[in-house]
Amino acid sequence: MTSADDGPHPSYTAQLLDGLKERGIHATFFVTGEHAELHPDIIERMFNEGHLIGNHTYSHIQLTKGNRDKFKDELIKTNEILKEITGEEVQYVRPPYGSWDKSFEKELNMFPVLWTVDPLDWSSRNVGRITEKIVSKTGENDIILMHDYYDTSVTAALQAIDELLEEGYTFVTVEEILFD
Ligand SMILES: [Zn+2]
Repeated sequence: MTSADDGPHPSYTAQLLDGLKERGIHATFFVTGEHAELHPDIIERMFNEGHLIGNHTYSHIQLTKGNRDKFKDELIKTNEILKEITGEEVQYVRPPYGSWDKSFEKELNMFPVLWTVDPLDWSSRNVGRITEKIVSKTGENDIILMHDYYDTSVTAALQAIDELLEEGYTFVTVEEILFD
């Protein structure tokens, strides 16, 4: 499955949604509260088109020893923003940089979703290289980390999806992969 972090971006996320729709694929978007507030229409579109929406904190904050309360406040604030738009509770969180505190799971009734394939898409503007990394590293039940914040990432994600579909893979949301 593909997951896209850091959006929504006003044009790249829309491009990704168009490509996913064409292919009949559902992905998981881990959005920041800050970007969701700026582009509620895109959140609404994700939701209406059957994608899963998760929390990526309000301002893309990294959990450290000293900021537990602020981090928790950001999760709660982002949940509220998303619920306001979609009407649904948010259950999944992708903690920025993977830093997490297990006790949040009970406190907030949220589950962290990390990843198993990281093509470092943000570090390259070379679509071919990103696509090749994704396709060569991906196997069954993998969770691919991408960012819908760069046009190169979106193009590479769609190309990789096409190649993986051709190899016989199917794509599901993180909910289907983790809890089925
Ligand atoms: Zn991120």
